[in-house]
Amino acid sequence: MGLFTKHIRSMDDLFVHTLQDIYYAEHQIKKALPKMVDKASDPALKQAFERHLTETEGQIERLEKVFELHGVKAKGVTCDAIDGIIKETESIVHEVKDATVLDAALVAAAQAVEHYEITRYGTLASWAEQLGHPDCASLLRETLAEEEGADQKLTTLAKGHLNRVAKAA
Ligand code: FE
Ligand code: ZN
Ligand code: FE
Ligand code: FE
Repeated sequence: MGLFTKHIRSMDDLFVHTLQDIYYAEHQIKKALPKMVDKASDPALKQAFERHLTETEGQIERLEKVFELHGVKAKGVTCDAIDGIIKETESIVHEVKDATVLDAALVAAAQAVEHYEITRYGTLASWAEQLGHPDCASLLRETLAEEEGADQKLTTLAKGHLNRVAKAA
């Protein structure tokens, strides 16, 4: 974005831009999750990733509804943050030898993704509310609740047994 091309002029523009950011991010997450299912060894962790893949597909559809309600075409813009988190995940997966340690690394990486999504959906829901779009806000809050649920599930798995098993490795 150069000096003469400031495309974001209003809160509405910023809302749409951020919607495009998370739309791109959800697509990258949808591509990354099957690889995480593959790499995970613990059956409960595999299942959690599979379940979140299904939720992610629903979240993409929900975002398309938000775009539609807001009267703009659904499209993505590159999210450097999610690209960075995914890149970091790939390099750590490459470095870890032990399967139980790898599971702990995958949980940590997935929680970084969920936390990024939680900040985005939290912000988007507040902005939609402020901009006078309660319909958009409630759809965004539905996804926010799913992301928070996914994050909590990962915490439960990690604290339950994954980290303990990994510590023994
Ligand atoms: Fe998501
Ligand atoms: Zn709206
Ligand atoms: Fe982003
Ligand atoms: Fe998520």
